[in-house]
Amino acid sequence: MTIILPPRTALVYGETDVLVAGGGPAGIGAAVAAARSGRRVMLLEKRGFLGGNITAAYVETCNHFMHHLSFQTSGIWAEMEEGYRAQFGRSGDIRPNAPHRFSSEYLKIFFDAFVGNAGVEICLHSFVNEVVVENGVISHVVIQGKQGPAAIKVKQVIDCTGDGDLAFAAGAPFDQGRDRDHRCQPGTLNFRIGGVDAAALVRDGNDQLKELNRRFREDYRAGKTGLSCKRQDIPMGRLTENGLVSYINYPCAYGVDPTSFADLTRGEIECRRYIPELCAYMKENFPGFEKSELVSIAPEIGFRDSRRIRGDYRLTIDDVLSGRHFDDAIAVYPQFYDMLSPDANMNEGSPRDAGYNGYICSYPKDGLNFEIPYRCLLPLGVENLLTAGRCISADHVAESGIRAISACMYTGQAAGTAAGLALQNGVNPRSVNTTELREKLRAQNCIL
Ligand SMILES: Cc1cc2nc3c(=O)[nH]c(=O)nc-3n(C[C@H](O)[C@H](O)[C@H](O)COP(=O)(O)OP(=O)(O)OC[C@H]3O[C@@H](n4cnc5c(N)ncnc54)[C@H](O)[C@@H]3O)c2cc1C
Repeated sequence: MTIILPPRTALVYGETDVLVAGGGPAGIGAAVAAARSGRRVMLLEKRGFLGGNITAAYVETCNHFMHHLSFQTSGIWAEMEEGYRAQFGRSGDIRPNAPHRFSSEYLKIFFDAFVGNAGVEICLHSFVNEVVVENGVISHVVIQGKQGPAAIKVKQVIDCTGDGDLAFAAGAPFDQGRDRDHRCQPGTLNFRIGGVDAAALVRDGNDQLKELNRRFREDYRAGKTGLSCKRQDIPMGRLTENGLVSYINYPCAYGVDPTSFADLTRGEIECRRYIPELCAYMKENFPGFEKSELVSIAPEIGFRDSRRIRGDYRLTIDDVLSGRHFDDAIAVYPQFYDMLSPDANMNEGSPRDAGYNGYICSYPKDGLNFEIPYRCLLPLGVENLLTAGRCISADHVAESGIRAISACMYTGQAAGTAAGLALQNGVNPRSVNTTELREKLRAQNCIL
C-alpha cells in the first residue's frame, strides 16, 4: 500500500558548485579534489564525523592486504596517510612489521582539519536522499534536517554514500547483491576490547592475533566453539601497547538489505547479541585475553556492498582478473577480491561462482593490477551526477575489489577532479575529455 505525500516547501539553505554526499573515503577524496580545482564544494555527511566505514565501522587496518607489495599508494590517499602519521604516529600500535593502521578516533580529528583546510564546507548531521531533477539534471539536493527539509542548489553532484542514495533518488538504475537473489555480503558490527596482556601476545616482534584467528577457524569448522554467530573467522586488526584489541571483525548478520531500516534494525540487534558470547569465549580460549573487557562497539553496523549504480560501463571480475586496459582508466589497483559468502557458506568459493558457493577471496600478487574506467562513475540517465567508492558500476564480485578503502578514495579523487574539469569546460561529466582528466590526475601524483 502507498500514500501520496502532500507537497512541501523547503528552505533554500545555499548553493554550491559541487555537492558531495557521504563523507567516507570516497567522499573525502572527491571533496578535497573538487575544492583543489578551485570550486565551491559542500560535503554532506549523515553522521557527526567523517571517515565512513573506517571510523564508523572501525575498519582501521585499511591496506593490510597490500603488505609486501611493491604497489605504491598515491594521490590524496598517500598524502592523507603521511599527514596522519606525522600528527598521530602509530597510535600505540605494537605490530612493527605490519602496514600502517589508524586509530579511528584520532582519524576523526585528522579528517576535520584535512578536509576543512582544503576549503570544503563540511555539513555533518546532513542526511540526504531527495533530489529535484529537471530534464535529467539535478537542480537541488535536499537535506533532511531536524528543522525541516533544506535545499541546496547544485551544479555538479557526486554520490559517495556507499548505498548510492542520491543516484537512487534521481532514478538511476542499479544492481544490488548477487544477481539471482540480490543478497549482499553480511553486515558486520566491529568492536574493541581492552585489558589484553599485550606483552604475552608478542613474539619476535609479531603479535599472535593472526595465529589465534587460524586456530579459531579450525575450531569453528570442527564445531568446537559453540558460538551462535555464523562467521567462522575472527580477524583482529590492531593490538596496542596498552592492551587494546581494536577492530574485532566478527559479529555478522546475514541476509540484511543495507537499504532497509527494518533489516538494519534486525542486523544491529542480532550482532550485538553475539558480542558478550564472543567476549566470554575469548577470555576462556585465547591466551592473554583472561582479563579482557568490552570497551566499545562501532557506532553502526558496516556494509561491504549495497547498491551498485549502473554506469556507462560495468566493470566485471574478468576485467579485474585479466588486468584489462582502458583508455579512460582513472585508477589502478592491485588485483584483488574479497567477498564473504552472503549465505555464511563455509566452502571456499571462486569468482566464477559469483557468490553462490562460499567465501571468495584472493589477496593481491605483486605486479598484477587492474584498471577502473571513468565510465563506471557515470550513472545512466542523469547528466550532472558522478558516483565514487563502493557504489560505482561493477558486477558483484568485481565490487569486492573496488570496495577497498584506498581504491574508494582513488575513485573519489577522480570524480572530484572530473567535476572540476566539467565546470571549467562548461560541460557535463559525461563529456569530460578523459585524456585531460588523466593528465590532471597524474599532476596530482596519482599513479595511473
Ligand atoms: C566489517 C568491514 C570490514 C572491512 N574491511 C576492509 C579492509 O580491511 N580493507 C579495506 O580496504 N576495506 C574494508 N572494508 C570495506 C570498506 O570499508 C568500504 O568498502 C569503504 O569504506 C567504502 O568507502 P565509501 O566511501 O564508498 O563508503 P563508506 O565508507 O560506507 O562511506 C559512506 C559515507 O556516506 C555516509 N552516508 C551514507 N548515506 C548517506 C546519506 N543518505 N546522506 C548523507 N551521508 C550518507 C555514511 O555515513 C558514510 O560516512 C570493510 C568493510 C566492512 C563493513
